[in-house]
Amino acid sequence: MIIGCPTEIKPQEFRVGMTPHAAREAVTHGHEVLIQAGAGIGAGFDDAAYEEAGARILPDAASLFEQAEMIVKVKEPQAGERAMLREGQILFTYLHLAPDPEQTRDLMASGCTAIAYETVTDAQGGLPLLAPMSEVAGKLAPQMGAWTLQKANGGRGVLMGGVPGVGPANVVVIGGGVVGTHAARVAAGMGAAVTVLDRSLPRMRYLDDVFGGVFATRFASQGNLAELVTEADLVIGAVLVPGAAAPKLVTREQLKTMKPGAAIVDVAIDQGGCFETSRATTHQDPVFEVDGIMHYCVANMPGAVARTATIALGNATMPYMLALADKGWRQACADDPHLSAGLNVHAGRITHPAVGEALKLDV
Ligand code: NAD
Repeated sequence: MIIGCPTEIKPQEFRVGMTPHAAREAVTHGHEVLIQAGAGIGAGFDDAAYEEAGARILPDAASLFEQAEMIVKVKEPQAGERAMLREGQILFTYLHLAPDPEQTRDLMASGCTAIAYETVTDAQGGLPLLAPMSEVAGKLAPQMGAWTLQKANGGRGVLMGGVPGVGPANVVVIGGGVVGTHAARVAAGMGAAVTVLDRSLPRMRYLDDVFGGVFATRFASQGNLAELVTEADLVIGAVLVPGAAAPKLVTREQLKTMKPGAAIVDVAIDQGGCFETSRATTHQDPVFEVDGIMHYCVANMPGAVARTATIALGNATMPYMLALADKGWRQACADDPHLSAGLNVHAGRITHPAVGEALKLDV
């Protein structure tokens, strides 16, 4: 199969759909790999690294979309890219179609077969192509929180780990899933006193078994939340209710009970955020203040560490990309129901029930 990887054109997106390692694997499986010139630069991979892996560099997206049988990307195709997709072509990338009727219409009109990273499942009920980005965002959250807590950035001037004779920062993590666990581990590693809140007792049992002594767990009742938020220097929002907007767990009223200059990192902002006062921000202008509380609400946190994020995503997507290329999408999906769950659009129709339901389109 001819596999093409274009340069990402969404603003501030520095990741790339294929690493040179992924290109090499595809080439050794007998496929031809086309990379748009400069596609890997933002993630620290130059064209020479891809050429050395056996890929061919093409000068522009137009020639790549024309020749490739499968397009491998990171973000959803932008309007200009959608116009280049054609019937029978496979698109393998993050799509997030449910809130995006315009993109959905264009993909249906193109006749392409679109497989979305975010709906591929695994045997444990997880989302294996979303998890690496949650791991990245989770580990980044305390780092950004520590920065936000610095005086020059509007914070209350508290050092995460304290120093001998001075206590550490109090960090509260709401949601103990993939993001929350990674955030709690890093915050604890920085020396902060960390408490994780969750509503799932099995999850808290797991966290207590594995991380007891590293951080504390509390049930996410309104009372516990109100108490802990008041004492916190940094609150990290990491909840997810699958398929739904994030619940607003901290109200504007509650902000008034927090310490002046305390920081919020709302990782759940891509689902609307779990603080009433959150609104999405960018890496250029990441922090804003409401009632003396500093809010960091960047919706695409992994973009800040494009190289790590690209390699992590590439590790996760590689086996699926190879299966699609080796067998063709029909056989690959027939062999693997979890990959099949990624199929969102085929031959002008929506093929994923939840996406169809969200957009009120027939499946
Ligand atoms: P996950 O499903 O692994 O974990 C979510 C956890 O939230 C679960 O343990 C669940 O029990 C808990 N939860 C649900 N409702 C709760 C409530 N009311 N109170 C307390 N806990 C509750 O999800 P994840 O992969 O950790 O993702 C968390 C959020 O981070 C999602 O919204 C995801 O989209 C987002 N995310 C954002 C970025 C970014 O760049 N901003 C990157 C990756 C992920």
